[in-house]
Amino acid sequence: MPRGDELDPNVHADDFSAELSLRPRRLTEFIGQEKLKTNLNVFLTAARQRDEALDHVLLYGPPGLGKTTLAHIIATEMGAELHVTSGPAVERPGDLVGILTNLEPGAVLFIDEIHRLSRTVEEILYPAMEDCKVDIMIGKGPAARSIRLDVPKFTVVGATTRQGLLTGPLRDRFGIISHFQFYDRAALYEIVVRSAHILGFPIDRTGAEEIARRSRGTPRIANRLLRRVRDFAQVDGLDTIDNVIAAKACHALEIDDNGLDQIDRQLLRMMIERYRGGPVGLDTLAASTGEDATTIEDVYEPYLLQMGYIQRTPRGRTVTDAAYKLLGLAKPSDPPLLEP
Ligand code: ADP
Repeated sequence: MPRGDELDPNVHADDFSAELSLRPRRLTEFIGQEKLKTNLNVFLTAARQRDEALDHVLLYGPPGLGKTTLAHIIATEMGAELHVTSGPAVERPGDLVGILTNLEPGAVLFIDEIHRLSRTVEEILYPAMEDCKVDIMIGKGPAARSIRLDVPKFTVVGATTRQGLLTGPLRDRFGIISHFQFYDRAALYEIVVRSAHILGFPIDRTGAEEIARRSRGTPRIANRLLRRVRDFAQVDGLDTIDNVIAAKACHALEIDDNGLDQIDRQLLRMMIERYRGGPVGLDTLAASTGEDATTIEDVYEPYLLQMGYIQRTPRGRTVTDAAYKLLGLAKPSDPPLLEP
């Protein structure tokens, strides 16, 4: 990827071990997403009181907002075993049958990128989610027959970046659908302070505010920025992170005051300079910037929309006045009206 990658909400190699230690383990440690958390707490408590598996849960939202974290928390809160897989990892129906027939009662099966399950694999999942049954084919050709196996009652926690990517029948099988929002500054501030504490590097209020402001509403980015800022602080011989070192690090990483990086700005500039502010189709944007369309749609666009720099219209994406202002560019005036 051409960018510095600090603002990429997808998991990087150096996130792996860090995320394990920074990841909240209980619902009470999970910061922000108040509405989602309050409802989930009710469903978890009710399922525990009835001594039943939790209903199937679909989590959707842009990468890095805490879907995987919440899946782990659900399993912990239910006292259930967690099995982790992902849409692309389950290639053949047999793979899923293997997973399902090995589940213990009440287990939580986390399927990341669930929209990438193939249709034939989805077909295996439906009866398992609905009736605790798995149909398997024995033999081949005319002698082939299907037998039904029972599987224990279990909970699927599915994660997807966009709800619209899921097929209707699959979406309908989830009893709980939770939509992640970008985190506000106050929640990100708390996340940064908590993570700095776990990392054992002191941070003051100004430093945490500075990092929170530039984190694109995304905990994974907040944690990654914090680790980079800590590198700068350490090399500069500082014993506390403050706003000055945080701003210095962000400047070096080309992350602006609002958390936009050079690719965000390039996208906006392209829409303005080449397409007079739009509307521009997603594929055109992808072709002109060299990013793939899915990355633009999942990673860049949600935050630019949220910040009000672009709008989606039926004819494509358009930039708003705020984008012109951000880049310090003049808005092209409308063509002069012809005199009658
Ligand atoms: P996703 O699955 O949506 O891509 P993750 O669950 O992997 O996101 O979250 C990325 C990282 O962000 C986690 O490792 C965790 O450290 C942090 N994180 C996410 N949500 C929260 C939260 N609500 N409170 C504190 N940290 C969080």
